[in-house]
Amino acid sequence: MRTALVPTMGYFHAGHLSLMQWARENAEKLYVSLFINPKQFGPSEDLDSYPSDIDRDTRLARETGCDVLFMPEPQDIYPEGHSTVVDVPELSRHLCGASRPGHFKGVATVVSVLLNLALPSLAVFGEKDRQQLAVIRRMAADLHLPTEIVGRPIVREPGGLAMSSRNAYLSPEERSRASHVYRGLVLGREKVRAGEDDAARIEEAILKYYRENLSRDEIDYVSVVDEKTMQPAEKIKPGAIAAVAVRIGKARLIDNMTLTEGAVS
Ligand code: AMP
Repeated sequence: MRTALVPTMGYFHAGHLSLMQWARENAEKLYVSLFINPKQFGPSEDLDSYPSDIDRDTRLARETGCDVLFMPEPQDIYPEGHSTVVDVPELSRHLCGASRPGHFKGVATVVSVLLNLALPSLAVFGEKDRQQLAVIRRMAADLHLPTEIVGRPIVREPGGLAMSSRNAYLSPEERSRASHVYRGLVLGREKVRAGEDDAARIEEAILKYYRENLSRDEIDYVSVVDEKTMQPAEKIKPGAIAAVAVRIGKARLIDNMTLTEGAVS
């Protein structure tokens, strides 16, 4: 029997639900985990204020056809004495790994525990977190895990803002400024379509747009990388993506876009 696991931290939005719907259609049983994983938060990050609405999430998971909603406590995942850490250093160093030390170790560790508990045929992740997806794909391959890792496209708000549980932190004014994150990426992709193939120039164009529309200290990184290795690209080739992170108010927002294909992702 084909089973699918969708790991989440809850506070469901249409992005989460799209993963569940895809899993529902491609497996006979759908497992969803809802676990706000303390190990992937830094000491000054938002673990204590991370948004949560268990009743609503339970209802949405049920309506989307979830067979098992797994909501463990930290001690279930990390019982006393737990000390194994899964690390994928090459892929975890740059981008979000640089501003969030230890984050991807926390992610790789919890995902390997969840995969071992559920033993699903498929595990479904969003391309919104591209670096996370690359880390998990590498980990699954390196550990010879039997689960197939599936990546699914980014679901966006009507103005382009990538859906995220952390968007709940944004005031209406911040939310409207946050749509510049997407617009900068579109601008980068348009430059590629117009023939630009130098990655540094694409980064500069996106940065210029952000500097004009956001404040400088809000920009964490703008980087053109290969989607599999997450290493900086020099020339735009198939698989090149622009990946960005900005901080607007209390929210750290990440987004990315494939530069060489027609489809928006
Ligand atoms: P989270 O609850 O934020 O840890 O996300 C759980 C899963 O949903 C991860 O695989 C994310 O990449 C995915 N996800 C989050 N936001 C989106 C989105 N806007 N579109 C598609 N997938 C998403």
